[in-house]
Amino acid sequence: MCKSVIYPGSFDPVTYGHIDIIKRASRLFTHIIVAVVANPNKKTLFDIDERKEMLKTVLKDLKNVEIDSFEGLLIDYVKIKKKQIVIRGLRAVSDFEYEFQLALANRKMYTGFDNIFLMPSEKYIFLSSSMVKEIARLGGDVSQFVPSIVKIKLKEKFRIT
Ligand code: ADP
Repeated sequence: MCKSVIYPGSFDPVTYGHIDIIKRASRLFTHIIVAVVANPNKKTLFDIDERKEMLKTVLKDLKNVEIDSFEGLLIDYVKIKKKQIVIRGLRAVSDFEYEFQLALANRKMYTGFDNIFLMPSEKYIFLSSSMVKEIARLGGDVSQFVPSIVKIKLKEKFRIT
């Protein structure tokens, strides 16, 4: 069955790991909504508009991918969008317990909810936005981890020339 799905996350900032998952999803499903979480209590490096803008730029060639954002509970957003399936990326085993807990909590609140987990290429198994931010903050080269537009934005944030 062809389906429209939601891929939620902070994307602070988007990395090649996220892009790998989105490309896989775009081959499997008819429509993907990449939903950026706007959580006022979580301190992010990039604000919601910056995160959406970077995603729009790096994903512009994927015609079945839409960028959106939401505040509050994921299941409320899923209901508003009349969707059922949420995509999550699974990296190392360390992601598993957290994702398992989150998926079951969401299903308890909304029985129609299901997750599909996709594995990235092994190149991205240990890649996370927080690692990229830390490397960039210390002046390291993040070219292998993020597209050039994101690299430039990171440099601007940390005022590195
Ligand atoms: P978080 O929800 O921890 O803020 P992110 O917003 O960075 O995580 O990521 C959103 C989704 O993308 C999560 O399912 C996360 O596991 C997945 N993800 C992040 N980085 C990668 C990666 N390198 N490979 C595969 N999936 C990833």
